[in-house]
Amino acid sequence: MEVLFWNKELETLPRPKLEKMQFQRLQKTVDQALKTHFYQRRLGKAGITSGKDICCLKDLQKVPFTNKDDLRKNFPFGMLAVDFEQVVRLHSSSGTTGIPTVIYLTQEDLNRWTDLVARSVVATGCTKKDVFQNMMTYGLFTGGLGLHYGAERVGMTVIPIGGGNTQRQVHVMKDFKTTTVHITPSYLLHIHSKLSEYNMDIDELHLKRAFLGAEPYSENTRLKLEELYGIDAFNSYGLSEMNGPGVAFECIYKQDMHVWEDAYIVEIIDPVTGEVLEDGAKGEVVFTILTRDAMPLLRYRTRDLAFLHPEVCSCGRTHRRLSRILGRTDDMLIINGVNVFPSQIEEVIMSIPEVGTNYQIQIDKAGALDRLTVKVEIYAKMFTGEASALDALKVRIMEKLRASITINPRIELHEPGVLPAFEGKAKRVVDTREAL
Ligand code: AMP
Ligand code: ZN
Repeated sequence: MEVLFWNKELETLPRPKLEKMQFQRLQKTVDQALKTHFYQRRLGKAGITSGKDICCLKDLQKVPFTNKDDLRKNFPFGMLAVDFEQVVRLHSSSGTTGIPTVIYLTQEDLNRWTDLVARSVVATGCTKKDVFQNMMTYGLFTGGLGLHYGAERVGMTVIPIGGGNTQRQVHVMKDFKTTTVHITPSYLLHIHSKLSEYNMDIDELHLKRAFLGAEPYSENTRLKLEELYGIDAFNSYGLSEMNGPGVAFECIYKQDMHVWEDAYIVEIIDPVTGEVLEDGAKGEVVFTILTRDAMPLLRYRTRDLAFLHPEVCSCGRTHRRLSRILGRTDDMLIINGVNVFPSQIEEVIMSIPEVGTNYQIQIDKAGALDRLTVKVEIYAKMFTGEASALDALKVRIMEKLRASITINPRIELHEPGVLPAFEGKAKRVVDTREAL
């Protein structure tokens, strides 16, 4: 197998040099972060008033964690470290419409992010000869534009088609001889189930590889997709708070994802005590971004659970590898690649006067895709026998939910007392999706 590099020197930098670079960048990042009111207060409390207070990489552990709630509380500008006019792009997390967690980038930040994405796709064997169909949603979500610019920088032919419209996706794949796609694993499975309906044979496609991300999936799903399409499938991990895709990506050996450690310091912590764990131990993934001026984030708690491989990879890269995401420490659901918190759903349905006090959120599979059903109990007086009133209520609930969580749920209305009641801690989410 031929190992390709985008920036061989950086990707294979001996660990001591890599760590020295991390340390120097960390000091700068701390200085940059101190330009924000948020970090002045947060770091000040920990006795850090300058990057010089960080004397070695280990001193990072003196820095307090940052979490999603900090981003929300400081929305919109509390964590911005440059003048707003220097910002050339902003992004936010998938599934957020109300008070989002917004991320800012300067032109230089964008440039550096694009380079990391270029590095990632080259690590999978892509060259400018490849035709890249980006089936991730474009817009505020980072999976669209993030991969787009990285692939373009490599010189690949980019088809910015975005998500949805399966028949068209398949025709475009065929017409332009697409070799590489970026897509959620559930959508790629779904497309396969539709091929015969479109009278399309897998041999008519020229697909060689897929970048799969945005949602958790198992090794078995990867193997299944590789077999169904005759391709190589690469795990791709990122989160908007750390720019988006291009944080960690698999190389051709497909033995978990290299974290680009010149740009990110990765730590695995015990989610309860906050203690930093050894390589190989499973815990919460924490990132410090070292290459973003507009919005530095120090020790950001992702809530994702994974572990780091201590062994080096056969490709020669010195950047450590992160395992698949093995779970979450919070209750965030990922529905067809979109992040949804049960609290968002509760907030909406409880704002509707006809809705009673009990509800249930159900997620199951409809074919390969995830399906969200929100079951609500409504007051008995609503069941007057007039179906149209109930239908109208359903539509109203559905539309309000869609406006908040960006996806379409099915709504079921029930009489009081029908849904399970709880005396202790309510279990409102019933997720019957099997690990794919
Ligand atoms: P967003 O900020 O909308 O990009 O969502 C980021 C979150 O999506 C991460 O924190 C993960 O929970 C999830 N995610 C992204 N990529 C993957 C992946 N390859 N495997 C599992 N989960 C992923
Ligand atoms: Zn490798």
